[in-house]
Amino acid sequence: MRGMGLPLLYLDVDGPLIPFGGPAGWHVEHLTGRRVREVVGRAAEGHPLLGRLDPRVGARLAGLRCRPVWATTWEHEANVCVAPLLGLPPWPVLEEPDGAAPAGLPPGVHWKAPLVVGHAGGAAFAWVDDEIGTADREWVAARHPGPALLLRVDPRTGLTDEDLTALEEWLRVPV
Ligand SMILES: [Mg+2]
Repeated sequence: MRGMGLPLLYLDVDGPLIPFGGPAGWHVEHLTGRRVREVVGRAAEGHPLLGRLDPRVGARLAGLRCRPVWATTWEHEANVCVAPLLGLPPWPVLEEPDGAAPAGLPPGVHWKAPLVVGHAGGAAFAWVDDEIGTADREWVAARHPGPALLLRVDPRTGLTDEDLTALEEWLRVPV
């Protein structure tokens, strides 16, 4: 199948794509409420932060050499509310387990870590999230035989130009 050899990209929404803003509460709106309603319609109701999505980030994401997967509590709503505002097609969704976090995870390991590693099945992947920490890096390194980039994004700013460049360069390396 076309694209099957490409690295996977697991992408979070809250933090990386919808920044939380700085300590004084500042943040940048890239889209007006009118634009959000035009594109998303009634599905935008109850999601007041969608205007923080940056279509320029969407354009950079669209150009990445990878197989993208949503790895976010937005789950399938990411394809309804987030992707259209970024100019992206629908992506597959890494689904959360029902109920409690997977048992047996050491403290500090994100609940997404075993899902990402399990889904990747040994294939090269980048995981972009604002909640990645040292425990995740160690846990993944011990269980995932292939190349992995765990890119922590500052949730105050969201994905920066530097983050996107680092991601592009890592994805460009043949695996
Ligand atoms: Mg997040």
